[in-house]
Amino acid sequence: MSHPECEFEPDVLAAVLQSRWPERADSALRAHVADCGICSDVVAVAGAFESAREEVRVPDAGGIWWRSQLRARREAVTAAGRPITAAQVIAFGCAMGLFGACFGATSAWFQSALARIASRLSNFDTTALTEHSFIVVGSIAVVLLVPTAVYVVLARD
Ligand SMILES: [Zn+2]
Repeated sequence: MSHPECEFEPDVLAAVLQSRWPERADSALRAHVADCGICSDVVAVAGAFESAREEVRVPDAGGIWWRSQLRARREAVTAAGRPITAAQVIAFGCAMGLFGACFGATSAWFQSALARIASRLSNFDTTALTEHSFIVVGSIAVVLLVPTAVYVVLARD
């Protein structure tokens, strides 16, 4: 089966692709397309491609690049902020523990309250060891609980 060809096919295709068809095309060419099946098919197919190409609006490449840059920067800021947040939580927990230890060691009414609680809780004599163990346990609890609570709250976001 031989491929059907027409000698005017390139001229018709050029006229359609250059948006010269049919108003600014040669009148002899228009008369030929009216009679030739191959060239009328070329006009139909190439015209459909041309109108489809005009309808499709490809987004601006610069806009896409700019938006991807913005997104990458935002993700980098988020990733960089995570270790800082963890360090801040740990520092806050240490500060709270230090504050609690200093408060417990220097406050007279707090120590007397601790002694009263310790004497009520145990039948043993309130020694310095039990008082200090209360302070140590409380400080450790603050150091461990505060960062854990802050971490849980931040991890939920
Ligand atoms: Zn033809």
